[in-house]
Formats: sequence, structure tokens, C-alpha cells
Amino acid sequence: MRRGEIIAIGSELLLGGRLDTNSIFLSDGLAEAGVEVRFKTVVGDVEEDIVAVLRTAARRAEVVLLTGGLGPTSDDCTREAVACATGRPLRRRAGAVAGMAKQLAAWGRTPSAAQQRQGLIPAGAEVLANQVGSAPGFALRWQRALIAALPGVPAEAERMFALSLAPMLRRAMASETAERIERLTLHTLGLPESELEQAISGLVPRIGWIRLGLLASPLGVTVSLTATVSDNRLGQKRFGQFGEVLRNIRKKLGRHIYAEGPDTMEQVVGRELTSRGLVLALAESCTGGLIGHRLTQVAGSSAYLDRGVVCYSNRAKTELLDVPERLLIRHGAVSAPVAAAMAKGIRLRSQASVGLSVTGIAGPGGGAAKKPVGLVYVGLDTYQKNGTGKASTTQAFHFHGSRETIKLRASQAALNLLREWLIATGPLDRP
Ligand code: AMP
Ligand code: MG
Repeated sequence: MRRGEIIAIGSELLLGGRLDTNSIFLSDGLAEAGVEVRFKTVVGDVEEDIVAVLRTAARRAEVVLLTGGLGPTSDDCTREAVACATGRPLRRRAGAVAGMAKQLAAWGRTPSAAQQRQGLIPAGAEVLANQVGSAPGFALRWQRALIAALPGVPAEAERMFALSLAPMLRRAMASETAERIERLTLHTLGLPESELEQAISGLVPRIGWIRLGLLASPLGVTVSLTATVSDNRLGQKRFGQFGEVLRNIRKKLGRHIYAEGPDTMEQVVGRELTSRGLVLALAESCTGGLIGHRLTQVAGSSAYLDRGVVCYSNRAKTELLDVPERLLIRHGAVSAPVAAAMAKGIRLRSQASVGLSVTGIAGPGGGAAKKPVGLVYVGLDTYQKNGTGKASTTQAFHFHGSRETIKLRASQAALNLLREWLIATGPLDRP
């Protein structure tokens, strides 16, 4: 497996105000191209520091990606650092200047004196066109390594990687025994990280080429399995073994798996609603519209989302959802009966097929011994009994964490209640 390194360049990335996010999609892209990222380095806009980390990286890896420091301002010194580290002097390159002029002309501008610096490229390097911004990138071979410099602006780096570098890496791969990284991620909800690990640890053989990773977040625990396989007979055997490990893990985690790969909970819920021809309406108290926001992030959600109401106060719950006042007085706004009444209220008012509600205490204040911070009820109401014989249900949760975390966990729990309900129900008759 070829080794890769990513060097993110920019003093702002070291000062705490800005995070290196480019290396996330660059790592993905490298993995897809069969390059295993072994190190990521963040370095400031200091030429001698960049030279030092680049030399170290180029000794250890076959592919080194640099991102940032290609701009026109005087702090941008990636070009100079690469020239210094590799001994390839900077030369004005007609191709780079022309590409930059063309991009700027599209915005009605001509290259400034400062931008002319961006036309300087280390001798012998291939110019990588920038389809989004003005700074060209470049790639060169030095000793054993392919070194490529990409802009720092995320959209520019992402596009340049996809259009120029990925094909270059694929071409380079074609001439070697191809090794690829097989990767699968399973997104789970409902099992704490340690329990999950215990459940599946026996299913993953302790061999170097299969790696198991667990990542916990407010949205659940993501299980990732990575395997390195080559295109020969051994690779095929490994591929078969990897497939079996996956099948066993899928079976073991069962209904706890809500999505796989790049899928999200909101996409999965959207598909389940669409396939049944159902329409959803939301009544959100403590999540303040977060569920509606998440669902509407998915293109095409208008097919299954009718409306969402943020009913924060008791008055809003009675006025907008017909929650009986006596329920609020007797049980309090954060209670199972009120969650049920909210879900029913929004369903009847909207005439949607499913009503989904959330009410809870997001904190940090407002908790009490009987109703602590993090107590959340989610409710669901439909017009028809499902496979379990119920037309409405509520679930109670006690979440920990900050206000933001509790809101996120509550939105996830509500969407998951809906997902599980839909799966248990099978196709519903239309009202
Ligand atoms: P530069 O190409 O270094 O002039 O960077 C241009 C912009 O992209 C600045 O706003 C940087 O903060 C941002 N940027 C640079 N490097 C990264 C990175 N690794 N991840 C995310 N943003 C970055
Ligand atoms: Mg910079």
C-alpha cells in the first residue's frame, strides 16, 4: 500500500481560529485512490518550517499533498518552500499565468502585480488548473515521492483534487500491483460505545489488514471497518473474509444500524416515508426546529415533509396543537402524555399521515429532581395501527451533555423512533 501524507499550511490553522478541514476530504480521496494516509501535519506560513516538514514527509511517503499558502499575499510561501526543499527553482509558467488570467477575466478582472506571483511554478512541475479560483496548483516528482500543492480555499482544493490529482493517482496506480482500501461505515444508535465494542470485538479477526474503528458522537456510534486488499488471489481471499466479517457485524448489530456509508438518518427516514407514500408533520419544543432543519437539508424533502411547528411555550402547545390545558397542568410540558398529544395535534391539524413530536429540558437550567436536564420525550402518532398494534407511541430518554448536544441527541432519537416505526409497520394504507 502506498503511503501518503497531508501537510496543511496556514498560520491561521495554528492560532485556534480555524480548523484544517481540507485534510478530511483529501484523506477520503487518497483512500479511494489506494493511498493510505500515515501522517497529517499542520504548519504555519513559515518557509523554513514548510521545507522541514516537506522533506520529512517526502522521505516517508510516496504521495505528499500540500494545501494552502498558494495565494497572492506575501505570507503565502508554499511555492518558495517547495522550490527550496526540492531544489527546483521557480519559473514563470505561461500555462499557469494564462489559466489565472482566464479565471480572473470571467470575473471581469485582470491579474494584479501580487497575483502574478501565482504564475511562478517549480521547474519540471505539472501545472494543475484551478477551476474555481485564481491560484494554480502544481505537482512534481521528487526522489520517490509525488508532491502536489493545492490551494487552501476548501472548494478550490476539493475541485482540483477531483479533476487533476485523482486521475493522476489512478494513472500511477495502474502501473503497479493495485492495492485498494475497502471501507465500510455503519452508523448505529442505541448502544453505548463500550457495549457495542464488546458485542462485536469477537467478530473482527485480529489481523493487521482489517482495522476496526469506533467513533462516538451525539448522533450515535459509527463503526468503521477498513481492509487493504490487492488485485491478486490473496486479495480475493481477503475480500471474501472481509465480506464475512461485515455480514456478521451487520447481523449482530441488527436494528441498531440506522444507516451505512455516506447516508444520514434524515436521508434514511426520507426514503422510508417516500417508499410508503407517507407525509410527516413535526411539533418541536426543545429542538426548536432542528428536526425540520435536518429533514429539509435533504433535496426532495418536500415530497414527504408537510410542516413543522416550533411550539415552545405552553400557550403555543394549546393554541397550535390543541394540547389540552389539563394535561399540561397535570403532567407538565415535559411528559409522555404531552408528547403524545403534541404528535396527535400536529397530525390532525395538518392532516399528515404521521405526526412526530419532541418535548424536553435542554438545560443547562430548568432541571429538577423529578425532571432533570436532558429528560426528553418523543412522540409519534399515525392514523393506523402498525405491526405492533399501536397507532401512537412515546419514548422517554435521559441525555447528557451541553444544550446543543442534548438538542442534537433529541432530534436523532425522534427521527429514529420514526424510522423504527416505519420499518416495523411495513406499507400503510392511505387514509
Ligand atoms: P490560502 O490558500 O492559504 O491563502 O488559504 C485561503 C483560505 O482557505 C483561508 O481562508 C484559509 O483559512 C482557508 N484554508 C487554508 N487551508 C485550509 C485547510 N487546511 N482547511 C480549511 N481551510 C483552509
Ligand atoms: Mg494561507
